[in-house]
Amino acid sequence: MPEGLEAEIYRRAGEHLVGGRIEGITVDPACGDARSLAVLVGAQIESVRRIGKLVLVDTAAGVLGMHFGMTGRLVVDGSAPIEALEYGSARDDPRWDRLVLVVDGRMARVNDPRRWSRHTLDPDLSRLGVDIFAGARALRLRLDAVSHRSTSTKAVLLDQSVIAGIGNLIADEVLFIAGIDPARSFCSHDQPARAELARVISRVVRRLDRLGGSHMGVTGPAMRSAGGSCPNDGAAFARSEVAGRTTFWCPVHQR
Ligand SMILES: [Zn+2]
Repeated sequence: MPEGLEAEIYRRAGEHLVGGRIEGITVDPACGDARSLAVLVGAQIESVRRIGKLVLVDTAAGVLGMHFGMTGRLVVDGSAPIEALEYGSARDDPRWDRLVLVVDGRMARVNDPRRWSRHTLDPDLSRLGVDIFAGARALRLRLDAVSHRSTSTKAVLLDQSVIAGIGNLIADEVLFIAGIDPARSFCSHDQPARAELARVISRVVRRLDRLGGSHMGVTGPAMRSAGGSCPNDGAAFARSEVAGRTTFWCPVHQR
């Protein structure tokens, strides 16, 4: 499941296309509307941005928004970023190409076995919160403004209108490092606690980015599949469902 960190890896790959002219767009009808995206043909790519999990390709004719769903990834000129092996299938089957952009004779494809990626013209960004890379201060200001009453801390972290780009793996890693029970009510955190949580989010995002993606944390897929114990206190990790997502956490130090 690509999270904001993977989208950032794709954005960097897409940056190689800046300055090029879009010569063709093909989209799987389940993943986008070919007629609306056709206005981008002939347009020059001015920049490639990212907000949360969404990669945005800017042109004078409109903005292409790419959302990668659970299994999509961006392949530019036949080379997929290295994290590709960690998500879904490691195969790069051309039948799974859901969006193909031809840019100055080069190809950028969204390869997505499950067909859950979505590609839209001028996507609505008004419901996205502050981006995961915005820094601890901006994250703290946003967390201070959260007032949903009985929501769990994990649900607030996953809410893209609060912080855009946190998915299940980053959320579990942040809660593990911060020592917070994922099911604990968010409104139980006072201002200093929210400030500390913002600092942890910022630190975790940067560390996972340096390491190669959201799967690189202590609570990442390696521990999830093999089981494991907390490096802080030796307790076995607990598994439960919080905010509708499978959650791994330490029942001893996460409170
Ligand atoms: Zn622990």
